[in-house]
Amino acid sequence: MSAISGEVNVRVAVRVRPLLPREKLEGEESCVRVVDQCQLVIGRERAFTFDHAFGARNTQQELYNACVRPLIDALFEGYNATVFAYGQTSAGKTYTMGTCNQEDLLPEERGVIPRAVADLYATVRAKQRQHSAGSVAGSRHELRVTVKVTYIEIYREEIRDLLDSDRTDIRLREDDQGNTILCGASETLCPTEDDLLACLETGSAARVTGATQMNEASSRSHCVFCVTVTQEWTDKLSAGAQQQLQSATPAVRVWLCQLIRAIIFIAMIGTGFQPVEKWTVTKKGCGHSCS
Ligand code: ADP
Ligand code: MG
Repeated sequence: MSAISGEVNVRVAVRVRPLLPREKLEGEESCVRVVDQCQLVIGRERAFTFDHAFGARNTQQELYNACVRPLIDALFEGYNATVFAYGQTSAGKTYTMGTCNQEDLLPEERGVIPRAVADLYATVRAKQRQHSAGSVAGSRHELRVTVKVTYIEIYREEIRDLLDSDRTDIRLREDDQGNTILCGASETLCPTEDDLLACLETGSAARVTGATQMNEASSRSHCVFCVTVTQEWTDKLSAGAQQQLQSATPAVRVWLCQLIRAIIFIAMIGTGFQPVEKWTVTKKGCGHSCS
């Protein structure tokens, strides 16, 4: 595939956030330097290499363009994607993912999820325009795209549905192909970008938070925000297939021309005492599952 190198399906980026005002007041100094686009140095000489390295001056836009933007194109080409934020409490996971209250932020501070959502709907609109421009009068050319979202958190080993608190029986199961799948979580249909952002906002507000020494409003749970995109189209079919499509039952119709892919955003709470945030982007066929 063009957007992401074909050989590797996991890429790791590291991000070092600037010192917070409180940390500066306490006289703290950074012991980590990003020395080029792929490398950082801890202390004097311990160098670590990643696929991308972002320092205090790198913007949300730069990080998004390098790490997540290509995944949106990939989604429409038939790939699933997972964006995974990992790091110590206060490393900047929530800020980077954009699951904090967006109203308090400047547009340039918006995190990865709102940016991905904007690009996702822009891509849908562009594809639909392209499609209808390519249609022939009287033919069945049509592209239908549906976007659904699931938002859960894992708190003390229990799964909570952040978009429907009445759902209590959410379980992880294994399907017959050995994939780990989530059963019982709600899926909310989001016809517009605003609908999806509203889900992000209400779900994020419902997360369990608590003050820690390092962060006044620390998310005390792991959270998984899953956006599923279904494309259904009726073009590019041979005359025979077109005929079959016309007489097909709805189920067969879907089988003929449906493509379902998901992009999953995961933010984990701090585990251990890693000195810096690690930020991983993976691409693999995980469907609806969160493994
Ligand atoms: P985490 O979710 O990893 O516990 P947060 O995302 O809540 O950490 O970040 C902790 C604090 O650092 C917040 O006040 C956040 O606004 C700030 N912060 C994190 N990353 C950056 C950054 N790249 N630039 C500026 N401020 C940041
Ligand atoms: Mg957080």
